[in-house]
Amino acid sequence: MELTEIGIPGESSVPMKHARILRGPYQMSFDITNKCNFRCLHCFNRSGENPVTANELTDDEVLEFAHDLARLKLFNLCFCGGEPFLRFELMCKVGEILSASGSIVSFVSNGSLITEEKAKKLLSSGVTRGQVSLDGDNPASYERLRGVKGSFEKAVSAIKILKEAGFKEVDVAFCPTAWNIDEVESTFLLCKELGVSGFRVQPLMLLGRGKENARFILPTPLQYRELVKIINFMKEKYMFNESSNCSACGLTPNVTHNTNIEWGDPVDHLIRFPTITEHCSTSAGIKADGSIQVSPYLPITVGNIRKHKFSEYWDNGLARMWEIPKVKELAGRVASVKDMGRSDERIPTVWFDEDIEIDIIDDNLLGGLNERSKASV
Ligand code: SF4
Repeated sequence: MELTEIGIPGESSVPMKHARILRGPYQMSFDITNKCNFRCLHCFNRSGENPVTANELTDDEVLEFAHDLARLKLFNLCFCGGEPFLRFELMCKVGEILSASGSIVSFVSNGSLITEEKAKKLLSSGVTRGQVSLDGDNPASYERLRGVKGSFEKAVSAIKILKEAGFKEVDVAFCPTAWNIDEVESTFLLCKELGVSGFRVQPLMLLGRGKENARFILPTPLQYRELVKIINFMKEKYMFNESSNCSACGLTPNVTHNTNIEWGDPVDHLIRFPTITEHCSTSAGIKADGSIQVSPYLPITVGNIRKHKFSEYWDNGLARMWEIPKVKELAGRVASVKDMGRSDERIPTVWFDEDIEIDIIDDNLLGGLNERSKASV
């Protein structure tokens, strides 16, 4: 069957031309583990408990993957999870391989396992940027969501340690819940004081434990409306450009003083990517079991690096994965965060059930090798 017959643009299409120009993705996320020492009430991927946790890539498989990525000259790789510091030595080894090939390497963490020694070792291995979660300005509020006593102090201490060690960027992720929405500004100010580069807020995802605990932690529509107002107000009050002084402290602008505020809706890409006819994906995500996800919010994977190298998937049209009819169908079901938690017995529940597995190489879904692999065949 011709690919055009199942709704995928053919060999000479504009998306195919674009896909061939890219030698690899611009940026990637990699769940180096889905194990975690926390069981946060809002964890969208049920880290520590999801089906992937039992079948994680071995160290050797991860290192082989890293060498493959190094050849693609990726711009940025982010270690996600789970808690990446549970595989600390492996993180350092992958950091060395990728930074040597020119990639920027970063991580997200709950901060609880970060020590001065580890921060220095990680930095010297080439991992230069990190993000720590801090969703509250005091232990009681933070630990109510995270469930671990002493975790607030550890998160704050981790931020200080990373700053002192010389990490180029230390960001904070703040997850709004019904309990902490009043603390968004005070938490931001704490981050600003700590010299954090970016303060990232996105709506609570109604997936995984976030879905299970929604009746306690989901902000009301009114609270969300208030949150957006506060964030806009904070942007005006605390973010400044070259020509103005910092309105928080009145000092001359100084880059170490400026904490960027980001408010993003992750549903956005599920609506835009499948509908842009010439879309060519510049990012990719790998789960801890090696499967290639289209989005962490969809129950479908399009390959596994245990079957074929990541670069082979790229050469076989991975950049065009949003054109696959099943992907479009699943993404088309989500118009808001609320749709993510919708149960449907015909469709696996993300991070609870096994994903729908397709393989763009074995199923010849996107057709054609690019020029690089043609040359090497
Ligand atoms: S939210 Fe982060 S720290 Fe909490 S359980 Fe999930 S991966 Fe672990």
